[in-house]
Amino acid sequence: MISLNMNYQKLNASYLFSEIAHRVNTYQHNHPDKKIIKLGIGDVTEPLPPACIKALHKACDEMGSRDTFKGYGPEQGYSFLREIIAEKDFKARGANISPDDIFISDGAKCDTGSFQELFNPSITVAVPDPVYPVYVDTNVMAGRTGLYNKGRYQNLVYLECTSENNFIPELPKKQLDLIYLCYPNNPTGATITKAELEQWVRYAEKQKSLILFDAAYEAFIQDPDLPRSIYEIPGAEKVAVEFRSFSKTAGFTGLRCAYTVVPEGCLVYDHMEAPFTLRGFWNRRQTTRFNGVSYPVQCAAHAVYTDEGQEQVKLLISYYLKNAAVIREALTSMGFDCTGGENSPYIWVDTKRDSWEFFDLLLEKAAVACTPGSGFGRCGEGFIRISAFNQYENVLEAIDRITTLKL
Ligand code: PLP
Repeated sequence: MISLNMNYQKLNASYLFSEIAHRVNTYQHNHPDKKIIKLGIGDVTEPLPPACIKALHKACDEMGSRDTFKGYGPEQGYSFLREIIAEKDFKARGANISPDDIFISDGAKCDTGSFQELFNPSITVAVPDPVYPVYVDTNVMAGRTGLYNKGRYQNLVYLECTSENNFIPELPKKQLDLIYLCYPNNPTGATITKAELEQWVRYAEKQKSLILFDAAYEAFIQDPDLPRSIYEIPGAEKVAVEFRSFSKTAGFTGLRCAYTVVPEGCLVYDHMEAPFTLRGFWNRRQTTRFNGVSYPVQCAAHAVYTDEGQEQVKLLISYYLKNAAVIREALTSMGFDCTGGENSPYIWVDTKRDSWEFFDLLLEKAAVACTPGSGFGRCGEGFIRISAFNQYENVLEAIDRITTLKL
């Protein structure tokens, strides 16, 4: 008889964003005249850079002619895109990453979710708390955890990120196999220094662990001293995989393009036979399960790296960072401790009360929707996440409404 993967039954039923949508819809239903400003879900609002649109049009025309038509492309991505990424995102910053280490995909969500497939169900996995939920749920689905109880899954190691440690988890005392890190962080907006990241690289070398480094928000880093890639730390190419995305960098959330870096020197020390080259495993996985990102989309991603594209992308990022500054300054002047919003599009606000209570307060009193921090993990309790992804005028209005409240 057919039977289901009952690990799915373990998944925490109240999915954060559906609960938010439910409360927002109920409020709108009861107050049909109110304009709700959504500073919750991290989707972009501004259109694609013109350089990308131009490249898309050109590529579509090529698809319409027999001479230039493209069918299936390489599963790993076209070399024109892999080469420019290696050059501009890594070699230019002193990181020795080759085009063959880069795998183009249709999203960092799929890649951060799928990478765990390469490993045995019995490995020890550590995730930050609060966390981007994809890391957790995909390990639950794979059967690597026990049941969910009081905000945590059994058998998963939670790396606590709190205001006491500036949202950078302490190095674990015990050996861990797979460690997820994300900087600039979703949801806290925190960033990591080179010295702090180096400690994690040294830990991974010593413990023979693998770091999965999610740098989806790298483009928001303004401080020249902060690392944009884990490969700026010498030795990281042996112990870390990095995920990048064009979603927030260039407004590709609806177009879909991202990439994962698996350096050739990245080895995995299996108990039985050691060591294995991880890149070959990921290549095997991708060539089996994935048929590549469409040619026009890869052309649009390539356009991000042209001079024109770079200028336009910088404008996009500064647009959202201006929103972030407005939010951060207003909340800080109201007496709230805020993290993020300077090198990241998220502002993590310590509300000093229950996350959902504060969420409801902002919704009811200001018609502003944010994200309750507790939805990202136990350490998120007491916080809310405010996203800078909205139109500037809406952000100003939202802040105007919030600052007139007595909170
Ligand atoms: N990683 C983090 C930390 C994110 O916050 C997101 C999206 O919000 C993603 C990955 C997903 O990116 P993509 O749109 O490329 O799937």
